[in-house]
Amino acid sequence: MFTHNKDLQFEVRVTEPDPRFATVLMEQFGGANGELTAALQYFTQAFVLREKNPKMYDLFMDIATEELSHLEMVGSMITMLLDGLNDDLKVATQRCDWMPAVASRDGREQAIHQVAVSPLFLVLSGGGPDVKDSAGNNWTGAFIDANGDPTVDLRSNLAAESRAKIVYEYLKQLTDDPGVQDTLTFLMTREVAHYQQFTAALNELPVNFPPGQLPGDPRFQNVAFNMSDGNGQSVRGPWNEGQGPWPEGVEWEYVEKPEQQWLGTSLRANTGAEINPEGSPAVDGDKPFTHEQHRATP
Ligand code: MN
Ligand code: MN
Repeated sequence: MFTHNKDLQFEVRVTEPDPRFATVLMEQFGGANGELTAALQYFTQAFVLREKNPKMYDLFMDIATEELSHLEMVGSMITMLLDGLNDDLKVATQRCDWMPAVASRDGREQAIHQVAVSPLFLVLSGGGPDVKDSAGNNWTGAFIDANGDPTVDLRSNLAAESRAKIVYEYLKQLTDDPGVQDTLTFLMTREVAHYQQFTAALNELPVNFPPGQLPGDPRFQNVAFNMSDGNGQSVRGPWNEGQGPWPEGVEWEYVEKPEQQWLGTSLRANTGAEINPEGSPAVDGDKPFTHEQHRATP
């Protein structure tokens, strides 16, 4: 069950109205990497974990609920940034408190420009948020990744938290309101904390890479193709040479000239009919990988 506490998770303060910043902040309300996406992604992922992994269920529901609290803060901040626009409706002959800004010809030009580029607040929503991103695109469930395997979902969530963090960082460049800055710092930092929580949870699970039950086929999994030619050297690095992320001794196999070294060989032959006439989904191999290690760069 959910209950609602009328206090915000962290105090939201806005010094003065700023409809332009309210517009870009919509990205964290109804945008692809926003708070609604985070809340509904973790909430949706949690259902299959309730029985099979109650500890992860608790974690996912806790963070989903915190993201809803962030959505509440972002919505409040957008509304405060539009203060004056969202006053009680007045008689039609009066204008809202924000209108002194348009009293001068210059201010009127700016307001008309604002309506033209972002009509949402001024002529559609009455000075509150809507479930759209900063460009007015509707929020969609297509933003949600939920795949039923906790190691897969946790990796999706690490990516989601990384994106949320960097979007807050970009947003912080676009305001000099101290109250807004402190609120954004809180929201940004909570995404860092969530990243650490999801990382710890991933490390807590049994090592499972590749995810799921099936191993990769050893004929193909340590092969790196050089798929570019033309001018310039092909770059070599730990992603295509030397020891790969496997136990000691398993190295990358680098296919420098795929047309000759791959296409022209039997390596690409489909041998399913001989080695697996029943068409079983099983793959002959094992899972030699370890978790990726997350350590701070010295
Ligand atoms: Mn958040
Ligand atoms: Mn988060």
